[in-house]
Amino acid sequence: MSVISQPTKIVCVGRNYAAHARELGNELPTEPLIFLKPPSAVIRSGTPILLPPESRRVEHEAEIGVVIGKRARHVTAEEAVSYIGGIVPVNDVTARDLQKVDVQFTRAKGFDTFCPVGAVSPLPNGDWSTLEVICRVNGALRQHGTATDMIFGVPQLIAYITGIMTLEAGDIIATGTPAGVGPLVEGDEVEVEIPGVGAVRNPVQVASR
Ligand code: MG
Repeated sequence: MSVISQPTKIVCVGRNYAAHARELGNELPTEPLIFLKPPSAVIRSGTPILLPPESRRVEHEAEIGVVIGKRARHVTAEEAVSYIGGIVPVNDVTARDLQKVDVQFTRAKGFDTFCPVGAVSPLPNGDWSTLEVICRVNGALRQHGTATDMIFGVPQLIAYITGIMTLEAGDIIATGTPAGVGPLVEGDEVEVEIPGVGAVRNPVQVASR
């Protein structure tokens, strides 16, 4: 597997941490809530996140990204871990005001630069449940979550998603964000770190057209 992934799709999981679902005033899901981010939104560490003129409220969402290692379809939860090719830090950047207006998440989550992704690292000790994710903005802690707090764990997510669609090698599952989402403004630097895996850091700029 290369050090960066070139996903054909990024499958995101919404409301997968109870405290985050509550902070946005949402009920807890009874099955995974999934949506797609386009591959065109992916940027690497150091590339600026561009704030679009359509939004007045762009927020960070630090997430544990699971990179699929081989083509996966109808995978059971029991065999799911063998399909994990690596782990990446992901920032599911979201135009919160547009998300509230639109029924679909596509616009709010799909702008170019709205998917910073770090380099791929092996799953530490082959154990997803010990992963943590941290978000800092200008060095200040904004989010800190642990994988054991996910409502639907990684094996369940892989089983659920591959029951719907084929996942290709390099595709990414963004497993949801813990509580503490907040705004990004011009001049910020936002970092998503998975301790023991790596980090993705991006400056924030207003988009110029
Ligand atoms: Mg998210």
